[in-house]
Amino acid sequence: MPNNVSTFTRGGVHPDDKKQLSNRKPIEKLPLPSEVVVSLSQHLGAPAKALKAKGDTVVKGEKIGTAAGFISAEVHSPVTGTIKDIRKVTLANSVCCDAYVIEVDKDAPEPQWEQHDWKSESREDLLATIKDLGIVGMGGATFPAHVKFSIPKGKKAEYLVANGVECEPYLTSDHRTMLERAEGALEGLMVIAKVIEAEHVIVGVEVNKMDAIEHLEAVIKEKGYPIKVQPLKLKYPQGDEKQLLKATIGREIPSGKLPLDIGAVVANIGTCYAVYEACVFHKPLIERVVCVSGECIAEPKNVLAPVGTKISDLVQFCGGFIEDPYKTISGGPMMGFAFSDPDTPIQKGTSGILAIPLFDDSETTACISCGRCVRACPIGLMPTMLYRNIMHGNYEAAMNKYSLMDCKECGSCAFVCPAHIPLVHAMKLGKKLGRKKK
Ligand code: SF4
Ligand code: SF4
Repeated sequence: MPNNVSTFTRGGVHPDDKKQLSNRKPIEKLPLPSEVVVSLSQHLGAPAKALKAKGDTVVKGEKIGTAAGFISAEVHSPVTGTIKDIRKVTLANSVCCDAYVIEVDKDAPEPQWEQHDWKSESREDLLATIKDLGIVGMGGATFPAHVKFSIPKGKKAEYLVANGVECEPYLTSDHRTMLERAEGALEGLMVIAKVIEAEHVIVGVEVNKMDAIEHLEAVIKEKGYPIKVQPLKLKYPQGDEKQLLKATIGREIPSGKLPLDIGAVVANIGTCYAVYEACVFHKPLIERVVCVSGECIAEPKNVLAPVGTKISDLVQFCGGFIEDPYKTISGGPMMGFAFSDPDTPIQKGTSGILAIPLFDDSETTACISCGRCVRACPIGLMPTMLYRNIMHGNYEAAMNKYSLMDCKECGSCAFVCPAHIPLVHAMKLGKKLGRKKK
């Protein structure tokens, strides 16, 4: 164990990480599926505007949707084929939007991605490439990268922190990316550092990935990059920007503020790799590493799959289910989205697909005022008081007196509650109804 391990100070929990199911599985490329479903909403913000029509042929890497607002991103075809249909789909996060159904031409030649010298390009040109090639945050938040990397006048990005934490149980796609694609991810990180003019560059990684920490350090040394790897204690939700920045640079984001307000920009390690592919090869974000795991999956794997792949194709590639899952989840078990339709497509932000059995059927009992939820909350909220106020319809008190809107919905409070009170569901409901009442 390294002696410079750090972490955030307030709250947090440590669930059984279950990463052994897939952390030693090298990334495997999914054989081309016969059909992909590419939604026009691959990112946070306004869905992209369709550029193609039913019956059109598309080439892998071709732009098929264009940003329809300031917070929006370009969408490219992940395959060569024919657009069979444009229809509404419901994504794993319950968002309903238009999507292209593309019949894949499996015999089409692969496009050639020519190498470019990003070092000779200006910051503005690199940012334009990141925008044009549809790069979004790949840790799950899917915030358009070009917006995040545009530093407004008067602000300064003193620190660039790469997020290699991967603190959610089961997930291992970032871990495998750091082991197998470290050269690219670190080069992408250097591109971002140039774009935002960062003074210090840090990669934060939890110590259950010591092999990744050692490998990143070896590559950094070999390339002579001015990047520091910061080992972090195991603690959920350290992958959240607020906790990550406290753990790596010791600064706290005040309520309602952004990382840039404390001089920092955070980029997921997968996003760094996508920036590398965009700026070095002019390759758009059309595929990603997805961790397919959980006790119900026959052979958990880390799979490189085209955006728009149906989850059923991924599960089949991993040998199918060995038992009927109690829950299928897109993302991690703490903050991911439960879904039921196996034909739901993956998106640019899909880090994992989990199929898990029922592990706890305890019934909810009354709150015993033990205070464990308060101690676990990384934001310093009082989940028990929030719950009481939400359940009594006192949304105003929950929002104004107990800062409901600061809740990250991380699930730490529910995880430790001995009364099995569905605290996170209450927070989500309270936010929704509270906003409506405003
Ligand atoms: S879900 Fe919200 S209230 Fe509960 S621990 Fe996380 S941030 Fe705190
Ligand atoms: S952890 Fe559960 S039982 Fe304990 S105070 Fe919080 S809500 Fe009540």
